[in-house]
Amino acid sequence: ACAISPRAIVSDACASYSTLERLNRNVKPALDELTQTTDFFSYYRLNLFNKKCPFWNDEDGMCGNIACAVETLDSETDIPEIWRASELGKLEGPRAKHPGKTAQRERPQRPLQGKLGDNVGESCVVEYDDECDDRDYCVPEDESAGSKGDYVSLLRNPERYTGYAGAGAKQVWDAVYRENCFQKSSFPHSASLGKIPTPKGPAAMDFKAVIEAAGRQQALEEQRQHNPLTPFVAKTGLEHEDECLEKRVFYRVMSGMHASISTHLCWDFLNQTTGQWQPNVGCYMARLHQFPDRTSNLYFNYALLTRAIAKLGPYLAAHDDYTFCMGDADEDAATRAKVLAVTNKAASVPQIFDESLMFKNGEGPSLKEDFRNRFRNVSRLMDCVGCDKCRLWGKLQTAGYGAALKVLFEFDNSADKPDVVLPVLQRTELVALFNTYARLSSSLIAIQQFRAMVEQSEAAA
Ligand code: FAD
Repeated sequence: ACAISPRAIVSDACASYSTLERLNRNVKPALDELTQTTDFFSYYRLNLFNKKCPFWNDEDGMCGNIACAVETLDSETDIPEIWRASELGKLEGPRAKHPGKTAQRERPQRPLQGKLGDNVGESCVVEYDDECDDRDYCVPEDESAGSKGDYVSLLRNPERYTGYAGAGAKQVWDAVYRENCFQKSSFPHSASLGKIPTPKGPAAMDFKAVIEAAGRQQALEEQRQHNPLTPFVAKTGLEHEDECLEKRVFYRVMSGMHASISTHLCWDFLNQTTGQWQPNVGCYMARLHQFPDRTSNLYFNYALLTRAIAKLGPYLAAHDDYTFCMGDADEDAATRAKVLAVTNKAASVPQIFDESLMFKNGEGPSLKEDFRNRFRNVSRLMDCVGCDKCRLWGKLQTAGYGAALKVLFEFDNSADKPDVVLPVLQRTELVALFNTYARLSSSLIAIQQFRAMVEQSEAAA
């Protein structure tokens, strides 16, 4: 039985969705185990508070938490303080500073033992300073000179409803989609160029509408061309040349990330009448159900990350310099086994996304650099998000997609080619990659449950 509207961009939605859902049921337990029970994968290091929004002046366009909250909730003052957006968006749990260069130099080479902080019992998070690589799709977290950021517990700060909304949030999303306009960048490619006026204008929004219309056109095209044996990428119509493949992929990644964030905030929603955290079907209907292309893009991202994780597996297995705990051999081995359990399960289906089609034909090769730069701009845009928790997950997920794209487009299936110089994957990239995969994985489950709720209420009506 198929519950997805055939109007979805993935026109053979049932086949594609159910394949991915089945795969997800297989992968999810291992992924949860990895991201919820290992220190390595449940703390993320990032620069959450020290970076300014590089693209616009906070006072001009960014909405502070309190102001956003007032816009979101008509009578914010009537609800208990702990339910207000300013409170919901705050981070919880202890945070620890990165030890910094001096402390790293003083530390013995190996084994090394770092302490996350008081009362944390953490011993596996110290890492060497990041090395920049021009094949990175995200801005390394040490871009702003000096600070290396904080370690934040992902388990203590789940991605869920925060009440962050209004002009500030919309400005960030609009800017994210504007980056899809490949002909001419809205932003300089280096944040160091300083502030520029808030990018606005009907042209950019029109472009997005055009892309969405092109997506619907694709759906019709795919209905004609459906072949259940071709990889997911072919089923999505990405091989058609009406709109450059790379641009469509860029848009789908952004829209899929947005859809996943929307899914989590609707699933873990605060009912401000009862004070209960519970799924909000109305929220799902308004943000996802009525927009099958968004759900399709979310599933597309799941396929893309599955492929990246599957591709990474042999590489991680072959390179024992990826030590997950650095110092405690048992914990290291246990974490490694959990990582490989995920990569093996992700590889248990035939190749689900064919990245070899990208950056090949037409303007493809010349677009790669542009694609990377635009992705970096999106990662910088996350510093413009005016809610701490949202910024945490926005930064983590852009870094996760960036790592996935790096694996897909910069790793040349090279586990068995020792002479190929591979780009480095930092600890933060690995943590972001697997946690982003875990976010998508729980989004798929939530969407299935939301769909069932909608069907139930329709049947009862
Ligand atoms: P928005 O979600 O703000 O969307 C703006 C516009 O974008 C829509 O009107 C629509 O035209 C378009 N759009 C929406 N979804 C898609 C899609 N999937 N694909 C393409 N176009 C789309 N809020 C929380 O409660 N918890 C969070 O963790 C959280 N994290 C966030 C992280 C980031 C990076 C940002 C920018 C915002 C975050 N927010 C979070 C806020 C949240 O995403 C929404 O902005 C907010 O709930 C207001 O929603 P909205 O209905 O106005 O539309």
